[in-house]
Amino acid sequence: MKLPPFEYACPTSISEAVALLASHDGDAKALAGGQSLVPMLAFRVAQPSLLVDLRKLTELRRITIAPDGVTLGAMVRWREILDDARLRTAHPLLVAAVEHVAHYQIRNRGTVGGSMAHADPAAEMPGIAVTCEAEIAVVGKAGPRTIAAADFFQGPLMTALAPDEILTEIRLPAWPAQRRFGFQEFSRRRGDFALAAAMLFYDEAGGKARNAHAGAIGVGDRPLRLVAVEEALDGNAIDEATIARAEAAASASVDPADDIHASGAYRKALVGVMVERALRAAAA
Ligand SMILES: Cc1cc2nc3c(=O)[nH]c(=O)nc-3n(C[C@H](O)[C@H](O)[C@H](O)COP(=O)(O)OP(=O)(O)OC[C@H]3O[C@@H](n4cnc5c(N)ncnc54)[C@H](O)[C@@H]3O)c2cc1C
Repeated sequence: MKLPPFEYACPTSISEAVALLASHDGDAKALAGGQSLVPMLAFRVAQPSLLVDLRKLTELRRITIAPDGVTLGAMVRWREILDDARLRTAHPLLVAAVEHVAHYQIRNRGTVGGSMAHADPAAEMPGIAVTCEAEIAVVGKAGPRTIAAADFFQGPLMTALAPDEILTEIRLPAWPAQRRFGFQEFSRRRGDFALAAAMLFYDEAGGKARNAHAGAIGVGDRPLRLVAVEEALDGNAIDEATIARAEAAASASVDPADDIHASGAYRKALVGVMVERALRAAAA
């Protein structure tokens, strides 16, 4: 279907972009890679009167690796994450997740900021942000603010972003070199959205897991933190009994709805299997 009519602007500064978004009473939208927004326009799910193209905001395309963590500019594309060899040690869980995002062409255009703002409950980047306790930097008419990933996602395709706000950065806390991690996803075809995926990490001390973090996508109305899985891991050796407890805890933590892709019961079982496999990968 052809796109509905809209005005188009391509600002060269963040302040100009914010002013443009604020100028249309909530009826303007940012355009990043267009991989989700353009289909939404075609299907008339979104009909903004103005599109504010962010592609000239080159300051939003930086990947910064510092002692306190990894900062991804909102306009960083999936391909740029996969091509950045530094990230394979600076944040291997992020790289493992992005390897599952979409298909070749979409990875060349789609951005991390677009994925976060779009807030698909089955998208990988929001899951990583929630599991790793990322901070989301945004700027709007009222100035900049920082939102914890846990507070950013408010439902399917719903976030804490105000209509005049632009997401500028995603800040992931530092990743110790010895950290153990796993990311496991099940989708119908590689590159499709996850039917369910689990991501987790822990640090090891004296053969036991510490500081366990676990999350899941595709099994709720937003990316979920699996606190019961973390409790099953912390203070324990990752042996068969712990893995079984974590798998059961994952399934018991979620209550996914039936939809055209899978029944809720199937996804509930699947997320447990994803946690089990992620833990085996982490332990290995
Ligand atoms: C066939 C197909 C398969 C896909 N599979 C997957 C998958 O497996 N996993 C996955 O995660 N994604 C998948 N995607 C989505 C893809 O990853 C997109 O890149 C992503 O969802 C949106 O990024 P974008 O840069 O294209 O954003 P756009 O489409 O340009 O924008 C999406 C939304 O975010 C808003 N927005 C964008 N940038 C900002 C910003 N900086 N500040 C504020 N608001 C902003 C826009 O206004 C819009 O509402 C798939 C897409 C397609 C078409």
